[in-house]
Amino acid sequence: MIVVSAPSGAGKTTIVKHLLKSFPQLGFSVSATSRTIRDCELNGREYYFLSSDDFRLLIDQGKLLEWQEVYAGSYYGTPVSEVERIASNGQFPVFDVDVVGGLNIKKMFGDKALAIFIKPPSYEILELRLRSRATDSEESLQKRLDKVKWELTFEKDFDCVIVNDKLEDAFNQAEKLVTDFLDLKP
Ligand code: ADP
Ligand code: 5GP
Repeated sequence: MIVVSAPSGAGKTTIVKHLLKSFPQLGFSVSATSRTIRDCELNGREYYFLSSDDFRLLIDQGKLLEWQEVYAGSYYGTPVSEVERIASNGQFPVFDVDVVGGLNIKKMFGDKALAIFIKPPSYEILELRLRSRATDSEESLQKRLDKVKWELTFEKDFDCVIVNDKLEDAFNQAEKLVTDFLDLKP
């Protein structure tokens, strides 16, 4: 399995989407979340969007492989059923999860998982990218920015790091890492 983690705005989603387009052997693990849906998102595609109560029910029923309250009041978790669904399609799962969730998955699966950390070229560039993405309110943006420095300290615990400066280079590095790890042909 492939785990991709990074602070918000570092480019995880962009790189994961590219990998999914390049490798039909990969399947995206759709997480559950209690955060509000964005205009460009579809329930069941980016996430399963749930109320906080329904999210807690999943926790209580043991239906999540891992979960985190990534930002105060916003829960995110990996449904066990996603891993089963992807495996039953004969695919390898790709997880786009926060740094703590990513390291938890790595601990669970050891050598069967490749944990990739996406690093922004600088804090300032990350902030610019997040602002130009224009998907978050100022309050949500601040919650994300407040965590960046702490999240960057986890870089050393990952199997590999991609600095997402020039997108084309980051895509190429990600493709090579996945090709080597899973022994695939793009
Ligand atoms: P994340 O999923 O980590 O929060 P995104 O993939 O949504 O990050 O990227 C944040 C924003 O930065 C998006 O608008 C994306 O198009 C843009 N972006 C990502 N990588 C690059 C890059 N290398 N150069 C310029 N813009 C980028
Ligand atoms: P966003 O709200 O920008 O989509 O995601 C915020 C953060 O939550 C990102 O770091 C994203 O990777 C993380 N995230 C998404 N799904 C999961 C999940 O299932 N588990 C964990 N631990 N984090 C997740």
